[in-house]
Amino acid sequence: MTLLEVRNLEVTYAGGAAAVRGVDLSLDAGQKLGVAGESGCGKSTLALALLRLLPAGTRTSGEILLDGEDVLKMKWGQVRAVRWAGASIVFQGAMHSLNAVHRIGDQIAEPILLHKKATPAGARKKTGELLEHVGLPAARASAYPHELSGGQRQRVMIAMALACDPRLVIADEPTTALDVMIQAQILRLIEQLVSEQDLGLVMISHDLAVLADTCDRLAVMYAGRVVEEGPARQVYEDARHPYGKALSAAFPRIGDTASRFAPRGLPGDPPDPSALPSGCTFHPRCPVALDSCITEDQELRDAGTARWAACVHAGASVPQPGSPAEEARSSTP
Ligand code: ADP
Ligand code: MG
Repeated sequence: MTLLEVRNLEVTYAGGAAAVRGVDLSLDAGQKLGVAGESGCGKSTLALALLRLLPAGTRTSGEILLDGEDVLKMKWGQVRAVRWAGASIVFQGAMHSLNAVHRIGDQIAEPILLHKKATPAGARKKTGELLEHVGLPAARASAYPHELSGGQRQRVMIAMALACDPRLVIADEPTTALDVMIQAQILRLIEQLVSEQDLGLVMISHDLAVLADTCDRLAVMYAGRVVEEGPARQVYEDARHPYGKALSAAFPRIGDTASRFAPRGLPGDPPDPSALPSGCTFHPRCPVALDSCITEDQELRDAGTARWAACVHAGASVPQPGSPAEEARSSTP
């Protein structure tokens, strides 16, 4: 059953250009989708759009179907309910999201009281269970955020995200502020919890290696679009888009922070949404661009079984109509 289906999503910030330009994604319950790409490629915009958390004045079009219902068409009351009980989000930099003057137990209990209509005793019990679930003693409920380490605070954020039994968890660079050892631990924790409870997960990171390790499928974003999508390990080990290739070359092994923001052999930065290059937006940085790439936009095309890439070269292994890959694609709702 499709849990999340994003169709032709476009997001334009007030006074700006489109930061997300026609994204299609699909996620089943129990499936984990990684979203990778350099800073500025539209990953957070996509994540925020899923729960309508974008600033006022932002224009959004397309469809975001959560269990078949379009989040973009929901009334505000419904959106608020969905934010806790339907889907929840774990942001980067937990310290900024926790309230410094309230005990963490009370902060975890709050949505349970509000959205689950639990009794205070029931909420306390659930809070203790959640803390233990994320690897903290239940007694830590009485701690204030400053009494916890960065990794522990991020565990609290995960407990909060799971508090109302969401069906979908969105994690936007949940570990960026943490040191390398803790990063891998937290990503694995999220992955475990999601697997145990058969939830859907959208995990955003620029670290392709970790995503390859923890997710089923991987989408690579560039300049507001998905430019490659496929089984996570395949995309990581054998990318079909030159951008995916460059990104994965930047992560020779898990936890290598030195090369994080500098994809090897890929000079420059992703373009600003207001000054997109013509044709394939990646062509100015692409080591294998053809003349035609300067003028011709590239749509996602078949790049193997259940794999797509928006590159003129991706068609090298384009399957014939009627082949398993073609069928997999045409049966995707
Ligand atoms: P990522 O998460 O991949 O780093 P973002 O989604 O944060 O990318 O940003 C995508 C683009 O949208 C960037 O060019 C960024 O400058 C722009 N952007 C992000 N947030 C806002 C905002 N609140 N107002 C205007 N532009 C924004
Ligand atoms: Mg971001």
